[in-house]
Amino acid sequence: MYSMFSSSIAAISTPKGSGGIAVIRISGKDSIAIADRFVRLYGKKAVSEMEANTALPCRITDENGDTIDTAVVTVFRAPRSFTGEDTVEISCHGGIIVSGDVLGRALECGAVPAGPGEFTRRAFSAGKLSLSQAEAIGEVISAKSRAALRLSRANVDGKLAKGIDEIYGDIKTALSAVYAETDFPDEGLSPVSPEEMRETIISVMKKLDALKSSYKTGHAVVEGIQTVLCGKPNTGKSTLLNLLCEEERAIVTDIAGTTRDIITEQVTCGDATLLISDTAGIRDTSDKIEAVGVDRALEKLSGAELIISVFDASKPLDEDDIRVISAVEKQHDCGAVAVAVLNKSDLGTAVSEKDFGAAFDKVVVLSAKDKACRDIIAGAINDLFISGSIGAGENAIITNARQYAKVCQAYENVSDALSVLDVLGTEIAGTELESAMGALGELDGRRVGIEIVDDIFSKFCVGK
Ligand code: GDP
Repeated sequence: MYSMFSSSIAAISTPKGSGGIAVIRISGKDSIAIADRFVRLYGKKAVSEMEANTALPCRITDENGDTIDTAVVTVFRAPRSFTGEDTVEISCHGGIIVSGDVLGRALECGAVPAGPGEFTRRAFSAGKLSLSQAEAIGEVISAKSRAALRLSRANVDGKLAKGIDEIYGDIKTALSAVYAETDFPDEGLSPVSPEEMRETIISVMKKLDALKSSYKTGHAVVEGIQTVLCGKPNTGKSTLLNLLCEEERAIVTDIAGTTRDIITEQVTCGDATLLISDTAGIRDTSDKIEAVGVDRALEKLSGAELIISVFDASKPLDEDDIRVISAVEKQHDCGAVAVAVLNKSDLGTAVSEKDFGAAFDKVVVLSAKDKACRDIIAGAINDLFISGSIGAGENAIITNARQYAKVCQAYENVSDALSVLDVLGTEIAGTELESAMGALGELDGRRVGIEIVDDIFSKFCVGK
């Protein structure tokens, strides 16, 4: 075991595989001394004599001084580096063997292998980043859409951290006034009036409520909406999935009951990311295998956040359609968002939008065979999940379930403070406000436990 801060860590920070260059990063108090042992500059100078933030061409040498590769070495000195520690970056040729050998030399010369996310973790420990900024770096790296990138980028720049900071500060002001009264009653400090405290609590509740609401958008853009495509067989679910994926993924046939298992796809739809499960058609069937598919489809519906239910608009609704509508209605009542797609509009419409009212948040009429209709469904989903312009808006947006849970906890504590204020007074209300500060502290890392930090950074790759 090595202590996180006494060791110097090293890893290849570029993706595995062949490329033009690979970057080997070494961070820690001995990183420059380690580089001195195997990085040779052209001329007499050693890496340790390089100025901060400068790069020079170099040779990477083995234990006999023979050249392994030619490279460029960049030196950053604490605290002005990503991790806040002395850092050396070696840009060598990007072959799997050669980059592995350069890393091997760093390890032989005293570095230890970096764990997942350990560079970012050190940046957090050095106070260079808040926890939400560190999470946002992970989200920038894994962003699958421009919208996710814009939003995560805004949080790397500290938009969420600033929002949390402001709320934290408001609560602290209210609390310090309470403590001035209880801890120093003879100092003649003006006691905080319950009225002032109430005003602060209400304003904090509003800000927390806005953050809570922002999760719908943040989740839809960054984490992705658990989406289920359902409908009776042959309504065009697979065709719609292909339209959403913008390529042929699902098998499209005109034989009813051919999609028997569940296909899952990640697609970008407007600003939202959909994690779509295409299900077997829901209908009464005597075919045993098909019946298993139908059961799975109904089961999958119960975990969905968004249900896209497809109907053949060219034919009147039948019993199987009614069965689908009532299955959707049940989930809609439990909080799922539901969109009815009246498909095959090119063949005319035999159904009315009114038939779908109660079970669905939106009804769209389109032809899944027509590529131009993708915008219709994307527009409907955007209206339901995305508020404001992503990343560019004034307001902070939370993007993951962990942050959401902490905001909800803080909101509950603050609303409890409001409830007890009149009955039990400012001091007891103050203890609830302290709990709210605790939750926000965990959100942004001020008071976070080691297990939570471990958990967050374990999701990063080695080298980040
Ligand atoms: P699924 O069983 O619900 O997945 O339905 P499919 O996507 O396999 O489609 C069933 C049949 O309907 C296929 O022959 C498709 O080509 C056809 N189909 C799907 N969408 C449309 C549409 O918008 N217009 C027309 N005319 N046919 C469609």
